[in-house]
Amino acid sequence: MGLAESRTISLKGADKISTRVQNASELPSPAPESAPSEGGKVLVKSYGCQMNVYDATRMADLLGREGYAETADEAEADLVILNTCHIREKAAEKIYSELGKLALEKREREASGREMKIVVAGCVAQAEGEEVLRRQRAVDLVVGPQSYHRLPDLLKQAKGGQRLTDTEFAVEDKFDALPQPSRAQIRARGVSTFVTVQEGCDKFCSFCVVPYTRGAEVSRPVADIVAETRRLVDAGVREITLIGQNVNAYCGVDEKGAEWSLASLLGRLAEMPGIKRLRYTTSHPVDMAQDLIDAHEAIPKLMPFVHLPVQSGSDRVLKAMNRKHTVAGYLDIIARLRKARPDVAMSSDFIVGFPGETDEDFEATMALVREAGFASSFSFKYSPRPGTPGAERADQIDEEVKRARLAALQALLEEQRQAFNAATVGKTIDVLFEKPGRHEGQIGGKSPYMQAVHVNGPADMIGEVARVAIVAAGSNSLAGRLISEGEEAKA
Ligand code: SAM
Ligand code: SF4
Repeated sequence: MGLAESRTISLKGADKISTRVQNASELPSPAPESAPSEGGKVLVKSYGCQMNVYDATRMADLLGREGYAETADEAEADLVILNTCHIREKAAEKIYSELGKLALEKREREASGREMKIVVAGCVAQAEGEEVLRRQRAVDLVVGPQSYHRLPDLLKQAKGGQRLTDTEFAVEDKFDALPQPSRAQIRARGVSTFVTVQEGCDKFCSFCVVPYTRGAEVSRPVADIVAETRRLVDAGVREITLIGQNVNAYCGVDEKGAEWSLASLLGRLAEMPGIKRLRYTTSHPVDMAQDLIDAHEAIPKLMPFVHLPVQSGSDRVLKAMNRKHTVAGYLDIIARLRKARPDVAMSSDFIVGFPGETDEDFEATMALVREAGFASSFSFKYSPRPGTPGAERADQIDEEVKRARLAALQALLEEQRQAFNAATVGKTIDVLFEKPGRHEGQIGGKSPYMQAVHVNGPADMIGEVARVAIVAAGSNSLAGRLISEGEEAKA
């Protein structure tokens, strides 16, 4: 099938997602408890951020309603969806090498009379559109992050032999069209889960593709989030992480049309008795409002761990990045968070080698890290992205320099991470148990600070929060011992 036969489904004037207020009772009905598999088997592979993880589960729920059963095994999948990431060049290129392997598999299948459909979803789909069909002829369908609720219709057309691209931002609300997962699906996904509350970004940092791939900032209505969360909690979920590209820019409306901040939303969700822990990610320093900082003191269920990307410790670079915050402003947020919640731990994202970054600028980043202290972090070499202002600059930094700076920064961040973990040894902390451990008789969970913790304990404690004495820190997890209330009182 040639590219001439592909087409784009276009919805003119659809540059915003609707945010109409919706009653909980209007939410789409849940998937049946055990979905029939007459549609075949689907594998949704997710790359990149938590938003993609969430979208992948919603795609699986949607296709479950169409009769597709989920599989983790590529060899038995009739439909493979790659839910892609475009944030750095490496992430995008990885998709094409994955598609190359899938194309071989598809050819072999076809030779033996079996069909396989390949869908590219997510941010590569949005950014590259028909180019994906051009570069890889085995791809049947390219669908953007704001149109994946149309997958059932698109797949029907693809079955008829058409190759399609749908990367328009929908006029209808994607979330209205997505079915809720069944209780069995929720249980299978574990006791900790994500809920998208906000999508898109209006910040236009000069290095970043997100505003182009995910569109403008849009917040989901309060009632929808409450209804989705209640359903998750009723089925056994105990920890909810509210997610959004700029989650703290959340301003969803309630039934009366009043706008709620992220802090108000967290306060509302904390009232649900089944919820044991709340988190939110990813935040932007500019939207770190005082009511959200205060929420860390007022809401005990809100975990004392904040992921707050700073990107650079140089005001000159921050300005060039169009970050709209300064180093002093960032440090002030941390100080206010620590005042509200003295045990708060911080995490961040860093980019080294942004165009024009000097040795002094990089040293300023190292100084910021030393001053702030991070429990964990993500750090990256700057990757020029097509269409972003950073990529146009003539003063790109040499790859070798970027590599050396990243190595130095990561060594410092790793030292801080290990020190943070080591400082937990000897303390007694709350752990939410999430799954069986790697060894017989073990269970594993998370500390309030996102550290993996394992103890010897019964599997029926999964979903429970219990007191754990930390006895040792490994490179990636903590070992602990369950302790009774009486034992803790005596200590
Ligand atoms: N919205 C968040 C924020 O404001 O920082 C983060 C979004 S982005 C998905 C996650 C991280 O990827 C960013 O914080 C940044 O550190 C990194 N990133 C984004 N664009 C990049 C680029 N062109 N090169 C290297 N890293 C990049
Ligand atoms: Fe990208 Fe900046 Fe928006 Fe974060 S705030 S998603 S880094 S443009």
